[in-house]
Amino acid sequence: MLNLDSIDEIFSKHSINAVIHFAAMKAVGESMQLPLLYYKNNMIGIINLLIAMEKYHVYNLVFSSSCTVYGEPSKLPLTEYDHTGNISNVYGRTKYFIEEMLKDISKADLNWNIIALRYFNPVGAHVSGKIGEDPTKKFTNLMPYISQVAIGKKPVLEIYGSDYDTVDGTGVRDYIHVMDLATGHIAALKKIMSERLGIKFYNLGTGKGWTVLQLISIFEKVNKVKVPFVIKARRVGDISSMYADVSLAETDLKWKASRTIEDMCRDFWRWQTLNPNGYKTKL
Ligand code: UDP
Repeated sequence: MLNLDSIDEIFSKHSINAVIHFAAMKAVGESMQLPLLYYKNNMIGIINLLIAMEKYHVYNLVFSSSCTVYGEPSKLPLTEYDHTGNISNVYGRTKYFIEEMLKDISKADLNWNIIALRYFNPVGAHVSGKIGEDPTKKFTNLMPYISQVAIGKKPVLEIYGSDYDTVDGTGVRDYIHVMDLATGHIAALKKIMSERLGIKFYNLGTGKGWTVLQLISIFEKVNKVKVPFVIKARRVGDISSMYADVSLAETDLKWKASRTIEDMCRDFWRWQTLNPNGYKTKL
């Protein structure tokens, strides 16, 4: 994505109708320590893509955005009409800047047809257990970390803060199964291929929030495992609670998440146990 010539080569060789742009870095904690890396990969990647798309007259784009664009919410659930900006971390700022850029280009050229999907917290894995998340760095999202502790690869889960204003003091997130997220993209593609939209934003979540402690407890129960944890300080840049109002995606995209939090835990664990070393062959 950082090499415009190689993107150009792909567009020159193939006849492309639409692009789904997923390629970006996504760890909040890492983004605070390596901001330049995040700005470089996330911003230059999309700029190169947009330059190539414009050159080859490909104007249909589904972009992976994030609920972090909302910053610390003043009310919940979050709707697409709520204020964006005022973001507490670098990762979120890259998504926000890109959304603003996409608004500008679609204003300047009415050919653009863009949907930015604001993901809440994608977790789970393909039901086969063959495709899943394989974190390769020390910065890991919550569910992969829970799973690595459960399988014995990490000794203990660190919970970042238990003094938030939530039912048990730990952070609340709207976890969505990756397979529901996938169908959300199909729904978005269908929409941009059949209508002239300019630019639209949609939340992809379930509309329900779970605390860190609730998620651990469900994971333990569904998979019959133990997840030891310790309470640590809040993580820099973290938000207390987030969950989506999903009615706009339901109405406009005719899409709704159907998998439960138990499905998410079960499917993640299947992937983890079938592939203890992720995509690497045995170590
Ligand atoms: N979290 C945690 N320990 C971890 C990773 C995450 O307590 O090792 C918490 C984090 O503070 C947040 C929630 O789990 O409340 C989800 O964090 P994650 O990094 O998965 O996603 P984010 O919402 O930050 O994008």
